[in-house]
Amino acid sequence: MNIFLYNTMKRGLEEFIPIEDRSAGMYACGPTVYNYAHVGNLRTYVFEDVLRRVLEYAGYQVNHVMNVTDVGHLTDDEDDGEDKMLKASRETGRSVWDIAQHYTDVFFADIEKLNIRKPHVICRATEHIQDMIALVERLEDSGYTYSAGGNIYFSIDAFPEYGRLAKLNLEELQEGARIEVDENKRNPKDFVLWFTKSKFENQVMIWDSPWGKGYPGWHLECSAMSMKYLGEQFDIHCGGTDHINVHHTNEIAQSEAATGKQWVKYWCHGEFLLDDTGKMSKSRGEFLTLELLMNQGYDPLDYRYFCLNGHYRSQLRFSFEALDQARKSREKLGGFIRELLKQSAQSPETAELGEEALGYQERFESHAGNDLNMPRCLAEAWKLVKNQQVSPEEKLMVLYRMDRILGLKLQEISGEEENDLDEDSARLIKEREAARSAKQFSRADEIRDILESRGIEIKDTPSGTVWRKRV
Ligand code: AMP
Ligand code: ZN
Repeated sequence: MNIFLYNTMKRGLEEFIPIEDRSAGMYACGPTVYNYAHVGNLRTYVFEDVLRRVLEYAGYQVNHVMNVTDVGHLTDDEDDGEDKMLKASRETGRSVWDIAQHYTDVFFADIEKLNIRKPHVICRATEHIQDMIALVERLEDSGYTYSAGGNIYFSIDAFPEYGRLAKLNLEELQEGARIEVDENKRNPKDFVLWFTKSKFENQVMIWDSPWGKGYPGWHLECSAMSMKYLGEQFDIHCGGTDHINVHHTNEIAQSEAATGKQWVKYWCHGEFLLDDTGKMSKSRGEFLTLELLMNQGYDPLDYRYFCLNGHYRSQLRFSFEALDQARKSREKLGGFIRELLKQSAQSPETAELGEEALGYQERFESHAGNDLNMPRCLAEAWKLVKNQQVSPEEKLMVLYRMDRILGLKLQEISGEEENDLDEDSARLIKEREAARSAKQFSRADEIRDILESRGIEIKDTPSGTVWRKRV
């Protein structure tokens, strides 16, 4: 199976040819953990999961590395605004370390619910400070840095290829100098590698370094950790499109200046999820989380289906109507699978695929390999379901194969009737209702979790608790 990916560096589709035969090193910029991930962030992780699944489907041994930005102030390029981790700590009365741990745990629970394959390496910024310091020293030794006002800066004038990814025009950048506020910078696009002079007060997360006590600049972690786990040259780096102009541009400058080699072969960027107000933002207060969708009765896989319905390089507008539509489609697909299971005379694993069925599989693979075209992949799955010429066994077999990329847990759907609830779960629902009446909310939540782990969703309505099995 051939895979073509849009490489932002080349502004076009390129065939994926790995650096090392049959393997693929893939780095994804991970979450900042001072707050919950919003559904926009999660769209990007769904796209990266599809990318990984397509590579794995095609037989590549993927090494998927993701960082966790648990240093609170590393959320902006400049040392201004506020330390988001400290703010969260002040508001909740918990330590910054607790805050980071809490949101990290929730993030990985969220991505599991979305059936996103867990990265092989998950690396925290706070556990790699020495690697970052070593990288700054390397840059310092090669003359790419300068010290000003107590901070260590990367000098983009020492790196003439600066801005290649973003296609930045360096002359225009000079113009920007007039509005630049950090007077320590020699060039407005220079960026901090190590801060010792912070505008933040009561900094908790600081470390010793050759330049004094301080903390790393926010781009540094991705360069240091990706090279540690994937080597100085690797195949794919991904993230959202917002990272092209600054974060990834600066990551490239640091990494390539340090090694003198091309760092990443393919740059893949996912487009934004928009809400009614435009761009989703965590700093604007209320924002949509996966939990919020679940509390409204949606299955996380409804959201996954919603994401698959749009191409990752197109902006996607969130609406509950569109999510309802995705839920309906997913449930309908589940219903078809249940029917097919009932109609199958033999187990789908042993089915022989005829030409017609193979055609669907091949078209699906070609859409998946054509820059991860999931809308067309879904369309192919639907066409297969509705085709009267293909046997139920063949349909199931091909759908299960497709699901290795779609990740909709189609194989977990059983042919049994939906309406039966086992005795123990029925008892638990009754017990939970009693606990709620007695205001024993922690027991009620505990029971909800148990039922959830059995694939049973419950919803409290004015006329009592209703349940449904997740498909
Ligand atoms: P953050 O936790 O803010 O660093 O973002 C995590 C990931 O989500 C990054 O890859 C961002 O590029 C991406 N991202 C941020 N906002 C959105 C959005 N509205 N839609 C899609 N991806 C986003
Ligand atoms: Zn990054």
